[in-house]
Amino acid sequence: MGDNPLVRDEELCLHKTGRECLRCMKVCPVRAVTLKGIERHRCDMRIQVNRKRFASRPNMADDIEVCAKCIAGMPCSL
Ligand code: SF4
Ligand code: SF4
Repeated sequence: MGDNPLVRDEELCLHKTGRECLRCMKVCPVRAVTLKGIERHRCDMRIQVNRKRFASRPNMADDIEVCAKCIAGMPCSL
């Protein structure tokens, strides 16, 4: 939890508060999001693939570290 004023709940994760969700697990293309946490090596492998695939694009930054499918547009996203 950060100190962002938009954060008002003590816990933003629906799953952790007993509600249905796990959308973050379902959308990860390499199944790196697990109930035990992020399997970082799987996530990193996906990032490496994406970097090579999109390297020729002029606006592709060198320091991208996530594909962000698991955090964009989720119920817990700000
Ligand atoms: S998408 Fe967000 S709210 Fe849903 S289970 Fe994952 S972390 Fe929790
Ligand atoms: S950033 Fe992408 S590859 Fe990494 S855990 Fe999230 S959805 Fe999976």
